Amino acid sequence: MGHFEPLAETHEVWLRSEQPDEPIFFFSPAQLRATAREFLTGFPGEVTYAVKANPHADVLAVLVDQGIEAFDVASPEEMMRVRQVLPNARLHYHNPIRSRDEIALARLYGVTSWSVDRMSELDKLGALEGAEVAVRFKLPVEGAAYDFGSKFGAEPDAGVKLLEAVVARGGLPSITFHPGTQCHDAQAWVAYIQTAADMAEQAGVTLNRLNVGGGFPAHRCGLLPDLTRIFTAIDAAVNESFGSNRPALVCEPGRGMVSEAFTLALRVKSVTDEAVFLNDGIYGGLNEWRDLGTGERVELLADEHDQPAPKNRDRIVFGPTCDSIDRLPSPLKLPDGIEEGDFLLFHGIGAYSLAQATRFNGYGAHKVVTLRS
Ligand SMILES: *Cc1c(COP(=O)(O)O)cnc(C)c1O
Repeated sequence: MGHFEPLAETHEVWLRSEQPDEPIFFFSPAQLRATAREFLTGFPGEVTYAVKANPHADVLAVLVDQGIEAFDVASPEEMMRVRQVLPNARLHYHNPIRSRDEIALARLYGVTSWSVDRMSELDKLGALEGAEVAVRFKLPVEGAAYDFGSKFGAEPDAGVKLLEAVVARGGLPSITFHPGTQCHDAQAWVAYIQTAADMAEQAGVTLNRLNVGGGFPAHRCGLLPDLTRIFTAIDAAVNESFGSNRPALVCEPGRGMVSEAFTLALRVKSVTDEAVFLNDGIYGGLNEWRDLGTGERVELLADEHDQPAPKNRDRIVFGPTCDSIDRLPSPLKLPDGIEEGDFLLFHGIGAYSLAQATRFNGYGAHKVVTLRS
């Protein structure tokens, strides 16, 4: 595994001694290892990782160290990042829309699995020569933070035709779906699994594998994820729907794998009665909050000689740029005594944060400090 630089014992000790003026992501390899083990021991199939959630090399290295050998990648750049950490990793290119140049590059990278959701994209792949092609389909689904089906996925009828075409062109037919990100309701997977079984039967194919996607929830907005319940529901639904034709399973968590392993420490630049101004915001590490709403796992780290009043008050949270929409979508409850120079710790923020941070206006959270314990 790579060596991490710089290192800290705890975020509190590091922040108090360094007093960083820039936003800092604290990465806990121990937490990532624990989550990876939960997936690896609990999920009834192969665990892969969706690189887009957080492509940091140290994240990939910890996952490889835990035994993850296959990765869901969406672009040649992500393929390169995975190859740098694990040269013989298996690459699942599960972005169903690809340019012809990307397809050529992916072949050079040795992609072993593709997903398709329309005939024109299957045509682009040409002869399949034994490669796995997972047909991506969609259902109307509730219970996710946002719906992945609005962009990708064939209707089940069209998916049946795609399965038949994959077999006719010499590919290994699989099915895949994505129930929607931050999905707490195991029923979302169950509905997809039942439909996948119907599709395979209608197409008259025995599936090579069934890839149940990502969507596994993180600890957000007071809801603790119950992965075991979801794994159990998936396992039971596959048995019930496929019977003796049970395919091997694959999952590709992004958020559920990496969220808990990161905390973002932001510094208070200025305070008014109604608002706080931080050194990062929606153009940086809090990028996703604009779409998903404001999380609640925010902790104040005040100067150690201060005793901020425990009473909370709603404050608008502004980021550092000169853009007036650079604010969180709803106010945060923050202790009354919050002061310039204090830090706010945003817990469980490893997914879609570092990966999406821009450098707009010269800001953005990019520095990662690794925790020893
Ligand atoms: C984004 C994505 C994932 C990961 O989704 P999460 O909700 O972060 O778990 C998995 N598979 C595909 C194809 C994706 O595009």
